[in-house]
Amino acid sequence: MKHKQVNLSKNQQIVLETIRKAKKPLKAYSILSSVKKKGINAPPQVYRALEKLVELGVIHKIESKNAFVDCKNSECETSKATAFSICKKCQKITEIMNSKLSTYLTNFQDNTGMKYEKYNLEFYGLCKRCKL
Ligand SMILES: [Zn+2]
Ligand SMILES: [Zn+2]
Repeated sequence: MKHKQVNLSKNQQIVLETIRKAKKPLKAYSILSSVKKKGINAPPQVYRALEKLVELGVIHKIESKNAFVDCKNSECETSKATAFSICKKCQKITEIMNSKLSTYLTNFQDNTGMKYEKYNLEFYGLCKRCKL
């Protein structure tokens, strides 16, 4: 597993590092308070950086938690196709990397005639440790 290489602005770099260092998904306000120490004081700058990083696919947003995690899948190039497994007990969140699933979902169609453009899935259950 390796991180994607992308050109980032200084603010984006700082925000990304903060998220990478965290062991758990970070909410925007925790990101705000940790980047403050590094000289970014304006929330809009942080929000803009987050938005851009999500768009680039280097971080993902866990919608249900309103929190951000860094992408650990160098093959995941887009912010438009993400799936996570979330442990109900310890809250551990893992990005799901399963080519069968992504192929299926990318080609997913149903009879509504809708053209789907993105998905952001969250699977809930118990992780290896918690199910014991
Ligand atoms: Zn990813
Ligand atoms: Zn667990």
